[in-house]
Amino acid sequence: MRGILRQVRGRLALAVALQAAGALAGVVPFIAVARIAVHLTDGSPALGEELWPLVTLACLSGLAALLLGSAAGLVSHLADNDLQLALRRRLAGHTGRLPLGWITSKGAGEIKRAVQDDVHALHTLVAHTLLDVTAVLTAPLLALAYLFTLDWRLALLSALPLALGAYLFSRAMAGAAARMAEYGAALGRISSAAVEFSNGIAVVKTFGRSRQVHERFLAATDGFSDFFTSWVRTTLVTSTAALLVVSPAVVLLLLVVVGAVFVTGGWTSAADLVPFVLLGPAVAAPMGVVGPRIQQIRAGQAAATRISALLDTPLLPSSATPAVPRGSRVSMREVSFSYDGRTDVLSGIDLDLEPGTVTALVGPSGSGKSTLAALLPRFHDVTAGAVTIGGADVRDIPAADLYRHVGFVLQDVRLLRASVADNIRLGRPSAGDDQVERAARAAQIHDRITELPAGYATEVTTGVSFSGGERQRLSIARALLADAPVLVLDEATAYADPYCEALIQDALSTLAAGRTLLVIAHRLATVRHADRIVVLDGGRIVEQGNHVDLLAAEGRYARLWRAQEAAQAGTTSTVHDSPAASPERTSR
Ligand code: ADP
Repeated sequence: MRGILRQVRGRLALAVALQAAGALAGVVPFIAVARIAVHLTDGSPALGEELWPLVTLACLSGLAALLLGSAAGLVSHLADNDLQLALRRRLAGHTGRLPLGWITSKGAGEIKRAVQDDVHALHTLVAHTLLDVTAVLTAPLLALAYLFTLDWRLALLSALPLALGAYLFSRAMAGAAARMAEYGAALGRISSAAVEFSNGIAVVKTFGRSRQVHERFLAATDGFSDFFTSWVRTTLVTSTAALLVVSPAVVLLLLVVVGAVFVTGGWTSAADLVPFVLLGPAVAAPMGVVGPRIQQIRAGQAAATRISALLDTPLLPSSATPAVPRGSRVSMREVSFSYDGRTDVLSGIDLDLEPGTVTALVGPSGSGKSTLAALLPRFHDVTAGAVTIGGADVRDIPAADLYRHVGFVLQDVRLLRASVADNIRLGRPSAGDDQVERAARAAQIHDRITELPAGYATEVTTGVSFSGGERQRLSIARALLADAPVLVLDEATAYADPYCEALIQDALSTLAAGRTLLVIAHRLATVRHADRIVVLDGGRIVEQGNHVDLLAAEGRYARLWRAQEAAQAGTTSTVHDSPAASPERTSR
């Protein structure tokens, strides 16, 4: 938190000082009124002399309070503006250099939250909450100090509701952090049950399981309701009591009743009681305001922690000896990789991908296909060994050069809020319209684009919906236009429509021409023409060769192939052993 606010610390201190001065000036008119009221009640002849000076003082200090408060707001907003700009720039700069593997696995949501929501939470804290809290804490101090100069016993009495309110409020807030965490978790359970229910509604209904899923949703909402009721029940009494004791009616009642006892006992005069009645409620008021602000302060702190964590996420180290690939031959030597630094997801991988060939990666779900493929565009750095492209270690290739050499088409295609043409042009912004169209035709997506209301100029917004297969073909058009000599492709399986599948296959063969292509294959049938098929299991290469050789070898691949053929012929065979037939996650 401090680290993040360091650059605006000076200006925030100035804003707080201005606000404190403004809040103090804001109390002066009340003191003036109290003095006038005292003179009125005791009928003192000094009123005539003091009236106008007191009125002038009240007006001037009221004006000063206004000016100082506005100045404080101005300073804090300007500081906040600079802070937001600097933070967003730092976040953009940093996230732009984070490993792509980090971003694809969890980053997009976290980055959005930091850049958007967390920076906004800091705005509330820096520009508003800080000054509000300053104001409500300083004003009562002056009021109380003034009351002490009049009668210390009644002044103590005026401070009593504040002390009691603070005590009750701290009791109500005890354990709030843990409860807030539980609150978030309970809400999370409801939303995942709701998502499960609505996303899978067709499947759920088809298999007649709606009751179970529905019950899961109901259980989540019931759980939340129980938790919330018990939370509210335990805190409601104390927090209501806290608000009650600081409420003006209760404070006034206390002062008037005890004051009346003082007056009848002859310990003070009725006139001397007037300032306490006027200023007493103001002394207790901050409790009612600071309480709700505590939540904003906590949210601001949590936001600052998340922003710092994101800014501290390690970048991929950049090389002291940059190198540029010569050619498009890819080699992996003794490559191991681990996500958590303990268990190897890949080990001892030796693999060469020759230019102009297609290599298919097959293997059961979780065997490491996506992880292996992601090492080429350096989504992660290897734990041991090396990946080279055109003789250069990918760790030595500057990012811009690397992405010129390695393109990737993933299953989960992101489209930007821009025209369709600009979405295709992403890999080469200078490309002309005719080049864009040529790429779209080769990727079998041209016809679909011309059906759109404004053709290539149609904005990709929520109004335009491309199917998964269409998105993948758009992404293939992107890759064709970007023309990277090495291409990693995660074959789409999610789109079962055979027409779409055939279009994607056509688009892929265009893509393969003259490139070094690595395909993560989820179905064996689509890779039988690949130059080489690499079978992965448990993060190791267990077999490799072309389709014919692998079948002849009667090894793992041959078994899988036969199992799949049998499955397609309608027999209930051991399909689940098949690397290609098993339902794949789109793991990254
Ligand atoms: P495949 O593509 O063959 O299905 P993956 O490369 O996705 O296999 O996964 C290999 C292993 O690595 C699996 O055990 C998977 O759970 C794990 N894994 C994949 N992605 C991550 C990640 N981002 N963080 C941690 N573990 C991961």
